[in-house]
Amino acid sequence: MAIFPRSGIRFSAPAMVLAVGLVLIGGSSSGLAAEPSPQDGHPIHGRLTRQEFQNSKRVAPEKDGALGDAAHGSDRYDMLRHTLALKIDPDAKFISGSVDFEFASLVDDLQIVVLDLTATLQVDSVTGGGGDLSFTHDADSLSIVLPAALQMNEEGSIQVHYSGYPQEPTWDRGLMFKVHNDVDGITGSIPIVANLSEPAYAKYWWPCKDKPGDKALSEVSITAPDGLIGISNGTLISEGPAAEAGWNTNVWREDYPIASYLVSVAVSDYQLIESVCVTDLGNDLGYDIPLKNWVFPYHYEAALVDFEPLCEMMNLCEEWFGPYPFRGEKYGHAEFIWWGAMEHQTVTSIGTSSIHGDGSSDWLIVHELGHQWFGDHLTPKNWRDIWLNEGFATYSEALWREHLGGHELYLATLEAGRNESSWTQQGPVYDPVPVFPGGVIYDKGAWILHMLRGRLGDGPFFSLLDEWGRQGGRTSEVVGSGDYIGYQVTTEEFIALTEIYAGEDLDGFFGPYLEETNLPEIIFTKEIGDGTSGANTRLSISLRQVQNVAFDNVFPVVVTTVAGVETRSLRLEQELAQAEWDFADPILKVELDPEHWVLWKPAQGISTVEGITRLFPNPSRGNLLNLRFYLEQPAPVVLRVFDAAGREIFSQDLGLIVPEPGFNEVSWNQKDHSGAGLASGVYWATLEFRGFRSVKKFAIVH
Ligand SMILES: [Zn+2]
Repeated sequence: MAIFPRSGIRFSAPAMVLAVGLVLIGGSSSGLAAEPSPQDGHPIHGRLTRQEFQNSKRVAPEKDGALGDAAHGSDRYDMLRHTLALKIDPDAKFISGSVDFEFASLVDDLQIVVLDLTATLQVDSVTGGGGDLSFTHDADSLSIVLPAALQMNEEGSIQVHYSGYPQEPTWDRGLMFKVHNDVDGITGSIPIVANLSEPAYAKYWWPCKDKPGDKALSEVSITAPDGLIGISNGTLISEGPAAEAGWNTNVWREDYPIASYLVSVAVSDYQLIESVCVTDLGNDLGYDIPLKNWVFPYHYEAALVDFEPLCEMMNLCEEWFGPYPFRGEKYGHAEFIWWGAMEHQTVTSIGTSSIHGDGSSDWLIVHELGHQWFGDHLTPKNWRDIWLNEGFATYSEALWREHLGGHELYLATLEAGRNESSWTQQGPVYDPVPVFPGGVIYDKGAWILHMLRGRLGDGPFFSLLDEWGRQGGRTSEVVGSGDYIGYQVTTEEFIALTEIYAGEDLDGFFGPYLEETNLPEIIFTKEIGDGTSGANTRLSISLRQVQNVAFDNVFPVVVTTVAGVETRSLRLEQELAQAEWDFADPILKVELDPEHWVLWKPAQGISTVEGITRLFPNPSRGNLLNLRFYLEQPAPVVLRVFDAAGREIFSQDLGLIVPEPGFNEVSWNQKDHSGAGLASGVYWATLEFRGFRSVKKFAIVH
């Protein structure tokens, strides 16, 4: 299994290093773009844009400890099953209930079981082994002392009884008590209680192991006031009046392992739209999929329109990604008040702002459906792999558009999602901080798949998607329930599977696109000359990448001759690739990647004229100056520095410089001939070679 490198091949090393040595430029910048976020307003009747959607899960900075409990030892046991019984009182904004946990020890002598639970909820008691257990509950951790230590693989069970007024950890997260009505959707009086737990806000409404890496079987029982119904994951196994008059209880069972962040409750006065979807695969294999959409009563008609394509989307997703992962259970939606949607397993929570009755939320509906494979079925072991969720779900949007409008619309959808300046600000695709930095994990993630499609070709690419979607890179598909632990996947596993389909090592592709924040910068040169078939039939091209980390790409080169259009490809793996191709007919036009199958940009600020191309930092603080320069051929080079009065204050013979592909670079410690530092001011650096002098100005500011 290939583990992709933390960084790719670095090149463009300077031919000469002066006083303080070489400094390679690069690294990554991360930070939050000042983009509109839902916190700026809550326009219930607005129309959710893709950018708002991609920012909707963003919370920054991540609250301390929000990503769970790595420190406190919940890795010492394997959660097998949780049975959650919750009474939800929307008027009082109060919950009470219990969770039964079954787990297996992963160590010998497991004495203490640690769960995540916010300190704002009250643990009333913990029981197990026929009696009360002692526990401590502080700092969002619940530590329970088992009646007897468990040995490796030994199973145990405990029950936590708790209650309280759930607090949202931050705006619109955790368990949200809201109201809706049919007037303006804001000032109503009908309750809607629903959760948003990703990435680590489940502990704000139920005790759990609040991390994605340990899936378990689950049962959720929701007791709600009559007139409201509770919706959850999996299959409804019982419904009816609760013991207490005026209340009803719905019990749901999820027979496929589920991550804590995907456990869902949604309580309101829902109306149900249901149908049965028979897909092509289901028809062959003998299953159908109940589609169930719970919406606010006044959205019934609109939802009929918006969810109409759902079965068609299901059919396509099965074609692309393999059979619906939760066969035997439903798929559908429960409406909630949120500026976005959340892919809860078998029952996506969909924001009320996305039901319009005009089909305009199709991209969102197919995105969330894609998550049933990518996120819910194939759950990341760790949040660093979040692009395996969002990049793939976003790619579902492009495939849907391709289905609707063909190749051109597919390409246009990818192109519309391209936003390099935001991506650069948001940081890397892999291991982003925060977990949801914005569009980079969505759109750049989808572009990585798009690029793989271009590189592998449709046949291998769709086989790869299908195998990944079915079995997440396992050698065989895992089926069944019981102790079935569910699929937990990593980026390394996806790369390993991709390399099998590609038949080559792809570290040089994945590494930089996942971990660098910039795109490759390409200098493309072409020359048409006389070839074996006559005038203008020979094409000489070169591709040079000039950024610091090499990206391994295969570029399509589209050549138009008098006879037609022909596409050839050139692999640029290191810094330079060249080719000479003969054509049967005269060449009219040559284009590099005109359809945009590769994420790249033309080199900026890189000259193909010999001499200094860049001085940095500028202004500097008087301790280091880097000179980047370009040479066509080897030459003796002399560096000189002049002050504002024209005096030469430093010079050094750099000797014979052999051109590096891309550019050369030297660093100077900004000390003069006598070794003294320089005062603030304006200076000029010159490089002399073959009788030329290349001059650039710089400033020192102390
Ligand atoms: Zn998503």
